[in-house]
Amino acid sequence: MNKAAIAKRVCQVYDLIDLKTTARQAECNACGKCCDFDSFDHRLYVTSPEMIYFAANVNSPIRPMDGGICPYNIAGKCSVHEKRFAGCRIFLCKGDSEFQGELSEEAIAEFKSICAEFGVDYYYADLKTALNG
Ligand code: SF4
Ligand code: SF4
Repeated sequence: MNKAAIAKRVCQVYDLIDLKTTARQAECNACGKCCDFDSFDHRLYVTSPEMIYFAANVNSPIRPMDGGICPYNIAGKCSVHEKRFAGCRIFLCKGDSEFQGELSEEAIAEFKSICAEFGVDYYYADLKTALNG
């Protein structure tokens, strides 16, 4: 498996998402509340190529998720902001759910395409399952 090439392709998808969501960034104050999934009643789903990218780019073993909060949320802030997942980039609590849904579908299509291109099994799992895998 060419992890570096997969990570590069995932990064390109993230860049595309960031380009399409740039205008909305001011609407997010990075309070981190949506990273506490249980209390915010929110779920984050991630894909297999994203986990390959994530494992290759965080400089420590993947942290398990014990409770309902993302283990990368430290004192209310994302400690992996530049490496965060597509769902983290797309979700905006005050945002347009239709826009977010369409962008999510677009990203998922790209991640499936990466899997097909590199012969990687595709999965779409909630963050806890993916981190504790
Ligand atoms: S999307 Fe909303 S809840 Fe999440 S960090 Fe931004 S302002 Fe906070
Ligand atoms: S990766 Fe960062 S933005 Fe995404 S859920 Fe975890 S702490 Fe929040």
